[in-house]
Amino acid sequence: MKQSGRFDVIVVGGGHAGIEAASAAARLGAKIALCLPTPDKIGLMPCNPAIGGPGKSQMVFELHALGGVMGRLADQTAIHARTLNASKGPAVQSLRVQNERDGYAAAAQELIAATSGVVLVLGEVAALQTDGGVLRGVQFTDGRSLSAPSVVLCTGTFLAGVVWYGKQQRPAGRQGEAPARHLSNSLKATGHTLLRFKTGTPPRIRSDSVDFSSLAVVPADDPPGSFSGTPGKRAASSPTWLTCTTPETHALIARNLHHSAMYGGDIEGQGPRYCPSIEDKIVRFADKERHLLFVEPDGSDTSEVYLQGFSSSMPPILQDDMIRTLPGFERATVQRYAYAVEYDALDLVQLRVSMM
Ligand SMILES: Cc1cc2nc3c(=O)[nH]c(=O)nc-3n(C[C@H](O)[C@H](O)[C@H](O)COP(=O)(O)OP(=O)(O)OC[C@H]3O[C@@H](n4cnc5c(N)ncnc54)[C@H](O)[C@@H]3O)c2cc1C
Repeated sequence: MKQSGRFDVIVVGGGHAGIEAASAAARLGAKIALCLPTPDKIGLMPCNPAIGGPGKSQMVFELHALGGVMGRLADQTAIHARTLNASKGPAVQSLRVQNERDGYAAAAQELIAATSGVVLVLGEVAALQTDGGVLRGVQFTDGRSLSAPSVVLCTGTFLAGVVWYGKQQRPAGRQGEAPARHLSNSLKATGHTLLRFKTGTPPRIRSDSVDFSSLAVVPADDPPGSFSGTPGKRAASSPTWLTCTTPETHALIARNLHHSAMYGGDIEGQGPRYCPSIEDKIVRFADKERHLLFVEPDGSDTSEVYLQGFSSSMPPILQDDMIRTLPGFERATVQRYAYAVEYDALDLVQLRVSMM
């Protein structure tokens, strides 16, 4: 594993974006340094292990058409594929694939290992190196440096990341990972404008504590669709399920809004418009008596389910009570609590037509 040197392209981050950047550069014959803290984080799905859905599936199809890898990885590790809005017109239909979370990361890691020209360089990138306004490379927190004429930043939710569980906060990238502590300062020093974003994730529930018999089953499409033209062998192997919030859920959340990091005025970051937290939904759509929630497996080998639509920044002690107000979850046990994360992002209006 090479730890310093000259490259054509340096890619910072090994999530979905970093994988595509490294693979695209490799297809052009470049020598690439893919920088990230540890190799097992390549292709990690930190939130829902799903690809596609409204506003996203067309991007995956476009990536695939341009030679990208996400569509293939998604199909290869799919356990449930469904066309959403199938009863409506084609303009609003979208393919959504539920994936084997660990399988997706393993397939991504295999793919990167087999991509010629890509060298993994482990560590935290601390700064861009420039000379007279010209980019020269990057420097790591431990002093190592790499040079290249191009650097692609794919830092996800890590830049100056802070996670929130109710009013408790700590610097972090996402569950169990360290934040990128220094790169933001270097970006500001090199004339970039940063924004503060926030997003959140729902709790993961122990599967064996859920009463699936009282949930509505949502079967996968049969035959299943695919992004790459070749559906995965197990793409129709698992259903998902539906539950919903109840008047008790709404009352409990409304009574405790001041404990939420988002509603307590603690979070400054701007959230994604189409991915509201459950607190948000109860405040913004106060006339709705219930909100549908999808119960989605994290894979066939995992012991937990993901509660799509229930992301929250309430304290863990309240999350236990909130979950037990949902049909089928009366005796549910939380395996990993919901949290919100705030992070720095580059303001996109700074992009030139070359995408630089
Ligand atoms: C709580 C939460 C909720 C989310 N909800 C949604 C959602 O609903 N819909 C959605 O589309 N997306 C959601 N996401 C975003 C999800 O992270 C992305 O969809 C996807 O993972 C982004 O991929 P990425 O490659 O941009 O970044 P990531 O997967 O975050 O990968 C970033 C990589 O960069 C590395 N890195 C960062 N800084 C440095 C540095 N300085 N030096 C070296 N390595 C570095 C990290 O270690 C990591 O490997 C959520 C994420 C979180 C954490």
